[in-house]
Amino acid sequence: MPYSVPDLPYAYDALEPHIDEATMKLHHDKHHQAYVDKANAALEGTGYEDKPVEELLANLSSLPADKQTPLRNQAGGHANHTLFWENMSPDGGGEPTGELADAITTAFGSFADFQAKFEDNGVTQFGSGWTWLVLDGGALKLTKTSNQDSPILEGQVPLLGNDVWEHAYYLKYQNKRPDYLKAWWNTVNWAKVAERYAAAK
Ligand code: MN
Repeated sequence: MPYSVPDLPYAYDALEPHIDEATMKLHHDKHHQAYVDKANAALEGTGYEDKPVEELLANLSSLPADKQTPLRNQAGGHANHTLFWENMSPDGGGEPTGELADAITTAFGSFADFQAKFEDNGVTQFGSGWTWLVLDGGALKLTKTSNQDSPILEGQVPLLGNDVWEHAYYLKYQNKRPDYLKAWWNTVNWAKVAERYAAAK
């Protein structure tokens, strides 16, 4: 099968207390698996069966009309979650360093301003979706998307994203999405984000 759920690069309970073990198990084993299963079913006959998911999303509009919506949702969900697991770490948190830190300060004024806007995009995303740091035409930007829409659909390169679907936080944070967004910073793997930035720019 073309896509598969990558193993978590840490234990299910490794992000406690910020993200609880039960949420991680359900989110990774059930939700991500469902996106992969449905994406693989929709991929059949498209010619993208053995290609990277990023390439599919970048070329989505060239696919038959009846394939576009399922793949936007399901392949988008696969791409978004794959990035999400990688961008967290039990050794996460703190602030970026080096070139990425300088670029964030230049683009947003300060790291605190960047965090505030990123969180605000997550809080104000009505319904399910994502808040993102992306590279867009060589510039860092903050954006949000609905459902499982990937920034790749807009020609952007996602560098860091947080999942604000209720399944990502409701067991622990219930309706308090802003608390989840704040706590989540303690998990961010800035070395990985810097790696993405260096590769994309
Ligand atoms: Mn999710």
